[in-house]
Amino acid sequence: MRDFDYQRVYDVPGAVAVLGTDPDARYLGGGTNLVDLMKTGVERPALLVDVRELPLDHIETTADGGLRIGATVTNSDLAAHPDVRRRYPALTQAVLAGASGQLRNMATVGGNLLQRTRCGYFTDLSKPCNKRAPGTGCPAVEGEHHNHAILGATEHCVAVHPSDMGVALAALDAVVHYESADGPGESAFADFYLPVGDTPHLETALPAGALITGITLPPAPVAAHSRYRKVRERASYAFAIGSIAAALDVEDSVVREVRIAFGAVASRPWRAREAERVLTGGPATAEAFAAAADAELAAARALPHNGYKVTLLRNLVVAVLTELAEEAAR
Ligand SMILES: Cc1cc2nc3c(=O)[nH]c(=O)nc-3n(C[C@H](O)[C@H](O)[C@H](O)COP(=O)(O)OP(=O)(O)OC[C@H]3O[C@@H](n4cnc5c(N)ncnc54)[C@H](O)[C@@H]3O)c2cc1C
Ligand code: SF4
Repeated sequence: MRDFDYQRVYDVPGAVAVLGTDPDARYLGGGTNLVDLMKTGVERPALLVDVRELPLDHIETTADGGLRIGATVTNSDLAAHPDVRRRYPALTQAVLAGASGQLRNMATVGGNLLQRTRCGYFTDLSKPCNKRAPGTGCPAVEGEHHNHAILGATEHCVAVHPSDMGVALAALDAVVHYESADGPGESAFADFYLPVGDTPHLETALPAGALITGITLPPAPVAAHSRYRKVRERASYAFAIGSIAAALDVEDSVVREVRIAFGAVASRPWRAREAERVLTGGPATAEAFAAAADAELAAARALPHNGYKVTLLRNLVVAVLTELAEEAAR
């Protein structure tokens, strides 16, 4: 591991000033992803700016009745918060589906959003990888890709975003807040992760050196009827091979409002807007849920070894929306 300097910061402007726009400096949250990448040499920062003493560890109700979640709130505290559990249950379920208790005690909201892909070529310095070393190629396209993207990918990168939490945030229309050298800014979650295009190394809309300060969740009554379901290759302690966050409001068997987001199918949490459009105002039946999934997944472009994800996601849509509709009918 490369030698590095370490500095703890105590206020937001100070953090941004210390990090500056130095491409060799990184903010340090829980370190559960960054330090692993430093050990393998994928990340080689010269300076770590520890953000965990910043006053960003609160969760509070906003003036409009939404929720503001600070960037250094741990995944454990986020999942356990009574307002999150009651008003946004899919978020609690998504966070608890990720990693282990020990990791969730360390991992922060900001770090979770910026964790890097688990593509094996990305972490193997002996292999080319456009995301790690732009212009070197993407061996996953013709190599090991059974857990890679079926939506929104290009030949330049087919990696998926690994976050469970982010899938719920996509369905909940979260807003990411940050502080940069130009002052505070924000990004709608839908715009936060950049399209892959031919620049997979450029992952988010954050300005250089920006510190994530928190996220807000707008008030959303539908979110009280939400759920997260994750499919993985073993029962615990594994990343998703497909997941869904969904919220459903049904009246007289008609869909009044629906939110759907997919995980582990694209370079970002994937909001299923086409499926939502097909369902809204129509019947809340298993047939309609399947048709909506098909409409969304018509855009899927599977590789030779990941076509199973299309069926997996279709089944997840039908299963989770059916459960939510049955609950609404009780
Ligand atoms: C064994 C294992 C299993 C896991 N399983 C899952 C899983 O199933 N699902 C899942 O979703 N995740 C899983 N994870 C990933 C884990 O959730 C992430 O490592 C964690 O959320 C990252 O948070 P952190 O605070 O530790 O980030 P760090 O490692 O500290 O940082 C990650 C990145 O974010 C940047 N950063 C951190 N905070 C800020 C900030 N406030 N502003 C700007 N940049 C910032 C850092 O510079 C770095 O680039 C797993 C991790 C491990 C090690
Ligand atoms: S899928 Fe992306 S991260 Fe994986 S090897 Fe290709 S370019 Fe690198």
